Amino acid sequence: MIIFDDRKRLSVPLSRSFKLAGEAVCHEQPAQVHGAYSSGIEAADWIVDSIKADGIANDGIHRDIVIAGAGMSGISCAHALMKYLVANDVTNFGIILLESRDRLGGRVHSITKNGVTFDCGGTWLQNFGENALAPIAQDIGLTLVHTDFNDAIIAAKTNDGSSVTLK
Ligand SMILES: Cc1cc2nc3c(=O)[nH]c(=O)nc-3n(C[C@H](O)[C@H](O)[C@H](O)COP(=O)(O)OP(=O)(O)OC[C@H]3O[C@@H](n4cnc5c(N)ncnc54)[C@H](O)[C@@H]3O)c2cc1C
Repeated sequence: MIIFDDRKRLSVPLSRSFKLAGEAVCHEQPAQVHGAYSSGIEAADWIVDSIKADGIANDGIHRDIVIAGAGMSGISCAHALMKYLVANDVTNFGIILLESRDRLGGRVHSITKNGVTFDCGGTWLQNFGENALAPIAQDIGLTLVHTDFNDAIIAAKTNDGSSVTLK
């Protein structure tokens, strides 16, 4: 069983150029999508700090930053890095996001059946008020449904809010 201290230890860089990220190494919000998101941002911050400390931005040498896995942590890391590189006109770094499956998202995945979209993985924005993904979901206009634990059918509502009969 992974416990708080193990997650903390796993989040420490393993070398000057290798760091684990993802929900499993997030000690504050483990096993949750927003924990994976925060972990990816933290990894991006670590890379940016290294670029700054080593003075290697636009030093004439091309380098690639390789991110293994396009789940939430990999995607948030790549996005944060891209934002930094573009905002600071750093042109000598490439970002390679590797994914072994034929889709993005990792454990966040939806399928559509008979016109209804179902989440097969991450669904809930836990601790909504403190969840870093909540304002992003609102900004991009996702339909958010408050969970009523007395209403089991909540997991099967269409975008207009009507319930779906599960057969
Ligand atoms: C059924 C289910 C329901 C859940 N419900 C919720 C919920 O309601 N709310 C919530 O907050 N969280 C929920 N979670 C947890 C949440 O989905 C995960 O914590 C989060 O998505 C993990 O993100 P990650 O980036 O850490 O890892 P992952 O999503 O596992 O991403 C890792 C990616 O790396 C890829 N990969 C692995 N090895 C390699 C390799 N060697 N080379 C290239 N690519 C590789 C994988 O294919 C995958 O795409 C749920 C999880 C499951 C399974």
